[in-house]
Amino acid sequence: MKRPGINGVRALARADDWAVQLKLKVDARQFTLDKGEYVRQVIRDYSPIIVIPKAAQMRFTITTITRTLHNITERKWNGLYLLPLKTGAIPFVQGRIDPIIESNPVLASKFSSVDNRLHKQSADGVNLYVRGTNIVRELQEFPVDFEIWDERDRMVEDNLEDARHRMDGSNIRQTCILSTPTIDGYGVYAEDAWAQSNQHLWEIKCPGCGRYQVLNFNDPALDYNNVKLGNDEKDTIVECAFCHRKITDEERPALNATGRWTPHNLGGTICGYHISQLNSPTQPLHEIMADYFKGQREARKLRSFWNLNMGRAYTAAGDKITPELLDSCRMKGYRMGGIPNSWVAVGIDVGVQIHVWCWHFGRNDQKLLWNVKLFDNWKDLDDFLGGLMSWSGVIDAHPEKSKAAEIALKYHGKLRIGFSEDRMQASEMAVFHTLKAGEAGRVNIDKSMALDTFIQDYINGNAWLPMDARELGEPLARKPWNGFYQHQLQMVRLEEENSSGTIVGRWKKNRNPDHWHHAGMFATVAAQFKPTLTVPSGISDMLNRSVMA
Ligand SMILES: [Zn+2]
Repeated sequence: MKRPGINGVRALARADDWAVQLKLKVDARQFTLDKGEYVRQVIRDYSPIIVIPKAAQMRFTITTITRTLHNITERKWNGLYLLPLKTGAIPFVQGRIDPIIESNPVLASKFSSVDNRLHKQSADGVNLYVRGTNIVRELQEFPVDFEIWDERDRMVEDNLEDARHRMDGSNIRQTCILSTPTIDGYGVYAEDAWAQSNQHLWEIKCPGCGRYQVLNFNDPALDYNNVKLGNDEKDTIVECAFCHRKITDEERPALNATGRWTPHNLGGTICGYHISQLNSPTQPLHEIMADYFKGQREARKLRSFWNLNMGRAYTAAGDKITPELLDSCRMKGYRMGGIPNSWVAVGIDVGVQIHVWCWHFGRNDQKLLWNVKLFDNWKDLDDFLGGLMSWSGVIDAHPEKSKAAEIALKYHGKLRIGFSEDRMQASEMAVFHTLKAGEAGRVNIDKSMALDTFIQDYINGNAWLPMDARELGEPLARKPWNGFYQHQLQMVRLEEENSSGTIVGRWKKNRNPDHWHHAGMFATVAAQFKPTLTVPSGISDMLNRSVMA
């Protein structure tokens, strides 16, 4: 047997050298690091977790495919290439992975025993699985050593744990997570992702003064900026942040040869890389900046500029509840409790504990937070509801439908079980079913619409919180607020194309608890169903005066 020479040994270790040596073709061009030198360190990084918020067209997908094929054939590691949806997996294999394999006969021969499109096996019996996150049973029961999560922000959050567990039996356990970013605090920009990483940024050397810098456009992590805005994209330039020498489109790609990755968060526990299109090997500046200028009039373009061109998160009003939004809804002099102003709308979220949210109503029908309760057991909830006078409520059907049904039956006509789902096609936030004797009342909830209504009430000043709202809920020692705020800050609203091609907003959760957000949403649904027996108006006026005074 011929022993591998120096080149052979190097190629074994380094996926980039290996790909160059095999003359692999990616997207119909020869694999190269020329003008894309930032790829080198990333493709050679075998840290346990790598997170990459990526701008579009920056060669990261081909980098991860190349690395995957190298892992399979040279390192003999079993791999999972994870995509958001199964429907995208076959075109991905046919359009991106197979052409690379077929571009070299030696590599192609190593994958001769391909048995189907989404499960490839090398001649040595090493497996590559390509899966979508939407089919949970297809994420179970096969062991792998490494995983690639491509387009993390579009993945089905609830099924990611199943995917992660595929590496439980391996000593290698290497995960590379990349995505076009979406919203602050979510996906690649979640607290456990970029924020927890060592935050490598790509620096290049100014051809004028020689100083290293990250070409950036108002990146809050940096105290300098390289984009000098003009009247439009053609009038805008990139310049050195220090000597102000203009850096032209012709120069920019070649500067990557001078580049280096520099960590900006030395306390990071995972590895992170971020680069924007300002370092693109191909794109001229006016193309990169076009959506920024269009975005001054069209919100969707601005979002796409920050996400796709800059590779950064972008949060517009209505995308998520922020501490500032909640603070702005605290009304001076308003306190919770006492005798309610009106009837009470009750929302109940069921988990290990029971979260209860109660609105009562102001003179102009504003929703005022009357009370929040946290119960450890059903009896306490029952006692609380039993003490309310005029009310209507919605209780979560999940995960304990039988208990919820039992209590909804006890408070027949007042309390309904809420079945919430993303129905997308719905025209109403909630459909209250006609009550039947002996059956728990129910309401079907369009979750997206209900959560939209919930945040819009805050934005429009239609929901009031007490001044001490930050103190409410589970105590959190290391945050400037407690559980009531914290739970409402977790979900984000992403825009997605539905099956009929329409762009729709959809609320996505992360791994942190969001019970108060759900309890509030159920209370907002309950607020649509005024009880038939209401407090006589004379009394309610008197109460209004006493509480609102
Ligand atoms: Zn300079």
